[in-house]
Amino acid sequence: MKFIADSMLGGLARYLRMLGFSTEYSNSIDDKELIKFLDEDEKTILLTKDRILKRENKKYGDRIILISSDDKKEQTAEVLSKLNIKDKISPFSRCLDCNSKLVKIKNKESVRNLIPEETYKYFDEFYKCPKCNKIFWFSTHTQRMDIIIQKILKKVEDISL
Ligand SMILES: [Zn+2]
Repeated sequence: MKFIADSMLGGLARYLRMLGFSTEYSNSIDDKELIKFLDEDEKTILLTKDRILKRENKKYGDRIILISSDDKKEQTAEVLSKLNIKDKISPFSRCLDCNSKLVKIKNKESVRNLIPEETYKYFDEFYKCPKCNKIFWFSTHTQRMDIIIQKILKKVEDISL
């Protein structure tokens, strides 16, 4: 399963990437291009705020999900709830900026010159985005995201009650 998000849903796209779901996003993509993603791969699901787009493309049925909330945490909860994929999340496995899968660094030594010295000292596990070449490690940043993820999962439960 893969997602393509419309230009209104940049925040949602980043949150879905944070949860490990492949999510294409561009802030300049038009309706025609969005639909093209559906035609090219039947596993792709389109997320949109656009009622007319949904109405005019009825033939795709449930493969177009109309997002109602304006809050990105609630939007994410909507998607997880509608598709029942709460148990399929894989946090911190994908680059938030470009959607690529992160690769675990096997040899810590190889990132030594790419990260702050303190970070090198205190952390042992590092990941790399093969496309943007950014290095990631577990830090306050991921802890903050962890709190966001817990909030999203709580919202999913609220929806399904
Ligand atoms: Zn990247």
